[in-house]
Amino acid sequence: MKEFRSRPPVPGGGAVSVLVLIAALAAPLATRVSGAVAAPARGERENVVLVVHGGAGTIRRSNMDPATERAVRAALSEALRAGWRVLHDGGESIDAVEAAIRVLEDSPQFNAGRGAVFSSAGRNEFDASIMRGDTRAAGAVASVTGIRHPITAARRVMERTRHVLLVGEGAEAFAREQGLEFRPPEWFYTKRRWEALERARERERERELERRHDGNAPGGPRDASVAPGAGAHPGDHLGTVGAVALDVHGHIAAGTSTGGLTNKRWGRVGDSPIVGAGTWADDRTCGVSCTGVGEFFIRGALAARTAMLMELAGLDLTAAVRRVIHGDLVAMAGEGSGGMIALDARGHVAMEFNTEGMYRGTIREDGEPHVWLYRNDD
Ligand code: ASP
Repeated sequence: MKEFRSRPPVPGGGAVSVLVLIAALAAPLATRVSGAVAAPARGERENVVLVVHGGAGTIRRSNMDPATERAVRAALSEALRAGWRVLHDGGESIDAVEAAIRVLEDSPQFNAGRGAVFSSAGRNEFDASIMRGDTRAAGAVASVTGIRHPITAARRVMERTRHVLLVGEGAEAFAREQGLEFRPPEWFYTKRRWEALERARERERERELERRHDGNAPGGPRDASVAPGAGAHPGDHLGTVGAVALDVHGHIAAGTSTGGLTNKRWGRVGDSPIVGAGTWADDRTCGVSCTGVGEFFIRGALAARTAMLMELAGLDLTAAVRRVIHGDLVAMAGEGSGGMIALDARGHVAMEFNTEGMYRGTIREDGEPHVWLYRNDD
């Protein structure tokens, strides 16, 4: 569990320190109450923070090749810097979230945009959502293909329609009307994701043969463990991306983008585009982006639940996130089922997972990205 304070402890203690602390804590609240987006006051800037994730799963140092590790660290750092530039210039957290996620969507290392997993139809089908913590406006797209930046499509839904979630062909038509960038299938293709689909199809065939002999067999009609990404290995979907930011105005925003599960069928949609399941933002509590087996995040409304534990049960950010990931999620889905990143209006960060690792990172006003992949802070 990691938690970071927004600033180092004030040295020396005493009345001056207390006054500094009170002023710093009150500043974002004052801005929020007035609703005005004012120029950042001195002292507010040090409060900005951005946290990103690139998916949770079986991430072990022993089976990570050095080139992949370097590429993942570089992409996470680039995403953090892209969002930081927005925050540093006094921009809005929603812009920082979108900027960071766009970088990750363009990187073939992650299961979002370019490099996303393949559905059973052999297509890249994207889900994404974004939310503002000041107004709780939200937008999302699900099961869309060809859109270079699904997170931007989600943002357009939030800002240019009266709706929250658009799906499939309708969402693609909307994105075209909005002039968003489309790319041909080759642009999203990666060999390793295609091979993962082929492996999943093979396992699915084997299961089907077993099922014919015994309905209780793995994959059989009475096997409750059959996930919508039939035959997929739990590690195959690793790489969903998300970001949560706090800006100088004290506003939180969050977003998530994914290709979902390898070999998903029947128009399966996960938690990532479901507001309250995979993404949540509320200035009064926290912003959250989730990754893992989406069905459980939907059933537990886990992103919103984290905020509710803070608002209604009085838990702090760290306790709420721990309870959701190690309590609620493990009780429903077992170990190895996922993780989340979250931050509150004071700049505390929590990054928690019950998997072997989670690609993750933070950046604060000093502009220095910090990135971790495994357990044990590295
Ligand atoms: N949550 C995503 C989904 O279920 C997958 C992931 O985060 O790895 O679609």
